[in-house]
Amino acid sequence: MSTDNHEEFDVVVVGGGPGGSTLAALVAMRGHRVLILEKESFPRYQIGESLLPSTVHGICRLSGAADDLAKAGFVLKRGGTFRWGANPDPWTFAFSISQKTAGSTSFAYQVERMKFDKILLDNARRKGVDVRERCPVTGVIDDGDRVRGVTYTDADGNEHRVTARYVVDASGHTSRIYKHVGGTREYSEFFRNVALFGYFEGGKRLPQPNSGNILCAAFPSGWFWYIPLSDTLTSVGAVVRREDAAKIQGDPDVALRNLIDECPLIKDFLSEATRVTTGEYGRLRVRKDYSYNNTRFWKPGMVLIGDAACFVDPVFSSGVHLATYSALLAARSINSVLAGTVDEEAAFTEFEHRYRREYGVFYEFLMSFYDMHVDENSYFWSAKKVTKNTRGELESFIELVAGISADEFDLRDAESAALRLKQRSAEFADAVDEVVRGNERSMAPLFKSSVVSHAMAQGSQEQTRALLGADAGADTPVFSGGLVPSEDGLHWTRPQGG
Ligand code: FAD
Repeated sequence: MSTDNHEEFDVVVVGGGPGGSTLAALVAMRGHRVLILEKESFPRYQIGESLLPSTVHGICRLSGAADDLAKAGFVLKRGGTFRWGANPDPWTFAFSISQKTAGSTSFAYQVERMKFDKILLDNARRKGVDVRERCPVTGVIDDGDRVRGVTYTDADGNEHRVTARYVVDASGHTSRIYKHVGGTREYSEFFRNVALFGYFEGGKRLPQPNSGNILCAAFPSGWFWYIPLSDTLTSVGAVVRREDAAKIQGDPDVALRNLIDECPLIKDFLSEATRVTTGEYGRLRVRKDYSYNNTRFWKPGMVLIGDAACFVDPVFSSGVHLATYSALLAARSINSVLAGTVDEEAAFTEFEHRYRREYGVFYEFLMSFYDMHVDENSYFWSAKKVTKNTRGELESFIELVAGISADEFDLRDAESAALRLKQRSAEFADAVDEVVRGNERSMAPLFKSSVVSHAMAQGSQEQTRALLGADAGADTPVFSGGLVPSEDGLHWTRPQGG
C-alpha cells in the first residue's frame, strides 16, 4: 500500500449524496477544482424519497440538474395528503394556492433515491467535479488552527492524502469526521422516534389529481408515510416512539404487519399489495436517533452540510431540502472566500446563521405539526404535545435559534417558547379546518399560517432566484451586517448601500 500519494484541490467533498453533489457542482461552476470522495458505488440505496418544490425548481435548477430530473420520469408530487389533526378524514395540502393558480413549479417529485442521487452526482461530474466512488475517507488532516485535507482509501486499498482549502463533510448521518469542527451532536427528545420501512407492489393510489401525493396517516402508535414511487411501487414506513422500539425488534415483517393492522387507512391502501422481498427494496430497514443538530457547523477549513450537520424528522420532507439548501449556502461562502471577495469569518457566519435559521423554522413547524394531532388515549401523541414535559427540548430550541433575528424567534424562556408553539399549532389547525370547510378549493389559509409561510419562505426565494436570476431583485440581509446572495446566486455580496 502506498502512503505517498498526495494531491491538491480547492475543495474536497466527503460524500456524494444530494448535499455533497450539489455543493460540488455549485463550486465547480465558479471554476474551482473540486473532488468528491464517495465510499459507495452509485446507484446506492438511501431513504428520503419525498421532495419539496424548492429543491427541484430552485437549487437543482441553479446546479444544472433540473432538466435531467424532469426527464427521469419521477412521480409528480402536488402536495401531501394527511389523516392527521382533529379531522377524521384525510385532507390535502397542495403546493399551489388553488387549482387555477397551479403553475409549472408548484410540484415536486417522489424519487427513488438510487436514481435521484445518481443524476445529481453525474451532474456534478459534468460540471467538472472529479468524482471518485468506492473511496472512503479515513481521516482529517488538521493542524490545530485549520483543517487542511483528508486521507482516503481507494478501491484497490491504496491510501491517499488530499489537501484542500476546504473540506466539506457531506457524509450524512453516519459521518465519522463531523467532530472535527468542534461542538457536539445534540439529540432531540421530542422527535425521538424509530422508523421501520419497506416497499410494496400494487398499493392503491389517491384519486386524481392527488395520486402522486405523499400520504401521511396518524394512528395510535405513531404515523405512517405512504409514498408512490411509480404506478405500482410504494415506499411505506411506520414511525413509532423510541420507547416502543421493542415492537419492531423481533421479526420486522410481523412488526410491520401488526402496525399496518393498527392503521385502517394504510391497511386499506395495502389490501391488494404485496411486499417486495428481493433486490435493494426487498429488506425491511430500521432507522433511529436521526433527529439531532451539531452545536457548530464549521471551523476554519471545514464545513458540515446536510445530515452530517443536522436533521429534524421525516414528516414534511425537509431532509433533502435542508441538505441541498445548506449545500447552496456553503457553496456561496466557499466561492466568495476563494474569489477573495468576502473574508472567511463573515462568509461562514452567514452560512451558519442562515442554515440554523432554516433548521429552526422547520423544527418549529414540525413540532407544531405533531402538536396539532389529537389522540388523548395514545402515549405517542400525548408525548407529542407541547407541554411542560418538553421543557428541556424547548430550552434546546431556544439555544438553537439564539442570536437569530429577534422578531423571528423572540423566545425568552421555555414558557414563551411553549406559548408560541401552542399558538402556532392552533393557528395551523384552524387553517386546516378552513381549507377542509372550503373543500380544498384554496390553500390560502394554510399558506397564511405562520409556520407554513415561514417554512416555505426561503425555498420560494431560492426558486424565484433560480428562475429569474438578476430579475428576481435585490435581497435583504437576514441579520444586521449580514450578506446577500449575488445575482447569479453562487456567492455572497454586501447589500447595496450596506
Ligand atoms: P446522504 O444522502 O446520507 O449522503 C451521504 C453520502 O456520504 C452517502 O452516499 C455515503 O455513502 C457517503 N459517505 C458516508 N461516509 C463516507 C466516508 N467516510 N467517505 C466517503 N463517503 C462517505 N428527506 C426528505 O427530503 N424526504 C423524505 O421523505 C425523507 N424521509 C426520511 C425518512 C427517514 C426514516 C429518515 C431517517 C430520513 C428521511 N429523510 C427524508 C432525510 C434524508 O434521508 C436525508 O436528509 C438526506 O438523505 C441527507 O442527504 P445528505 O446528502 O446530507 O446525506
